Amino acid sequence: MTPEPATPSGAAASEKPAPGAAAQAPAEPAGGSAAEPDPTTGPAAGSTPVERPRGTIEAGDPSQYLRERSADGRRDVSYPPAPDPLGIPVYDNHTHLEIEDGDTGLSLDEQLERALAVGVHGVVQAGGDVDSSRWSAWAARSHPRVLAAVAIHPNEAPEYERAGELDAAIAVIDELAAEPRVRAIGETGLDFFRTEADGIPAQIRSFEAHIALAKKHGIAMQIHDRDAHDAVLETLERVGAPDKTVFHCFSGDADMARIAADRGYYLSFAGNVTFKNAQNLRDALAVTPLDRILVETDAPFLTPAPYRGRPNAPYLIPVTLRFLAAERGIDADELSAQVAANTVEVYGEF
Ligand SMILES: [Zn+2]
Repeated sequence: MTPEPATPSGAAASEKPAPGAAAQAPAEPAGGSAAEPDPTTGPAAGSTPVERPRGTIEAGDPSQYLRERSADGRRDVSYPPAPDPLGIPVYDNHTHLEIEDGDTGLSLDEQLERALAVGVHGVVQAGGDVDSSRWSAWAARSHPRVLAAVAIHPNEAPEYERAGELDAAIAVIDELAAEPRVRAIGETGLDFFRTEADGIPAQIRSFEAHIALAKKHGIAMQIHDRDAHDAVLETLERVGAPDKTVFHCFSGDADMARIAADRGYYLSFAGNVTFKNAQNLRDALAVTPLDRILVETDAPFLTPAPYRGRPNAPYLIPVTLRFLAAERGIDADELSAQVAANTVEVYGEF
């Protein structure tokens, strides 16, 4: 198969540029090792990241946390047109609305209104560090169509560890997880693509601590797994997975999908399932029982075809949902009803 050209759409403006983060945005991941470009990659060229020390987000209006990932002159940053509304409403089970994207950006209210208009009746807003987890909890507290997931991202864990702050950060996640509208620990997991070998022990320690938090609070867990399939599955087996375990942006193949589904895990498919070079994801989809399938945007990343590279947003869920239904040869309404039921099964009612 012919690989698609790399699309420079990955970098998110970050408060805390990762060591060695270049102005060059990384290539958007394809199906093979697909997890989203994480928010630790540093500012995109042309953006103006806001320098802000950790933990100061509580002051003032938390919506100010919305960050920019602005035009770098190489990509179309206009939002794609709204798809036709779904016949049966669904939810976006993993998104990052604290990251503002696009030529004009969309506020949280605008995001939710646009989503509602096309039959996306709610979102699970996922955090990746202390600030974005606090923001996620705030968004869920403030909006009836938002639930939150909170965690220290696997690529953030080594950074916190180096600063001697990992335990304190996990303690904040523990605190937030007690809130009634925080319904998942995530995203947590393992990332052997972006984290160097010396960061792996902290990553594994953090993952295990997050698993324990999901169990303690009796809530779901959203896993980020990038180039770490075996280690993630082994860790879950060794320490015991939470009752509701979701592979966010599932990136494995059919074999892994069978293993995950057999263990009762959920597979959440993102827009990259539509990419030409992601046959492994379509093979995985083909063998996943319908009652294990979830759908997500991972916005603003992983915009589905034919809009790849442009900003992603929850209102584009119908594009991916219809693609999944066509791949499975079932009616979109039938899949929507099933995916909506699965979402409520995992996270509870909105
Ligand atoms: Zn994500």
